[in-house]
Amino acid sequence: TNATTREQALKEASETFELPGDAPVFMIEDDDAAAEPEGPPAMRDDIYFGDRALGMFALAPRAAEHKNDRMLVSTIARELAGALRMATLVEESRWMATTDALTGLLNRRAFLESTTREVARAKRYNEHLSVVLLDVDHFKHINDKRGHAAGDMVLSAVGKLLNRTLRTCDIVARWGGEEFVLVLPNTSLAGAEEVAERVRAELASAVINDGNGDAVPVTASFGVAAYGGAETLEQVIDRADRAMYLAKSGGRNRVVCDHPELAKPVSAAE
Ligand code: GH3
Ligand code: MG
Ligand code: MG
Repeated sequence: TNATTREQALKEASETFELPGDAPVFMIEDDDAAAEPEGPPAMRDDIYFGDRALGMFALAPRAAEHKNDRMLVSTIARELAGALRMATLVEESRWMATTDALTGLLNRRAFLESTTREVARAKRYNEHLSVVLLDVDHFKHINDKRGHAAGDMVLSAVGKLLNRTLRTCDIVARWGGEEFVLVLPNTSLAGAEEVAERVRAELASAVINDGNGDAVPVTASFGVAAYGGAETLEQVIDRADRAMYLAKSGGRNRVVCDHPELAKPVSAAE
């Protein structure tokens, strides 16, 4: 575009691409071009890779339109297609490799990768770090009674609830099946117990639709463990897993801490 102001350029781009008002626009500015007088309106061409529409390319000539300008625009649009397709493929495969498709959370592999730095930091600076493992209660029953698709909806709803309830610095992942894992940086065992309790209560009172218009009561059992500084994350997760099984055998829909005595502040009377 050869608009002389930012606003004008944005307006011209929005009109050319017929963008909605709130669409994000990235602009690369060229001061020399801005000094040129206004030329004819922009020419636009669609960018196709095969029959897949990838975007649009537009050019606003500085001088009066030349007869070859339209051909130039379509040539550039065609040349851009391969590069754009490659970029979107890279992005898609990165997403697929790290994201659990059903819940939108990190998958197990991406989780282990993204926790490495947190664990190293906790170790180096002697900071708290806690792990919460949660497993949906009687999930097999939900599947059996309402169907696998309803089960999937429940898992997706649990994923959304976890994302909504936790802080952005917390790491949330689908550990597998109906199990989820949280890593809470800078959080003591007692702090993690509170977080787990809050998630437990929110889940137990959430209205989760099974896709057939019925609300599914969903609860989960939680195991909590704190990083000790001299172990691997897998070992902490194992301890959280054992605590989670105690929550199951203790009646489900509850939070159990590994080494519960560490979760309670020592009172002066004791
Ligand atoms: P508990 O309270 O002891 O955890 O009982 P549970 O029924 O939740 O545990 P169990 O491990 O027996 O059953 C888990 C079920 O979860 C079995 C499996 O078929 C189902 N499941 C695992 N992954 C998925 C999934 O992606 N979608 C659906 N719909 N079901 C899944
Ligand atoms: Mg399970
Ligand atoms: Mg279960």
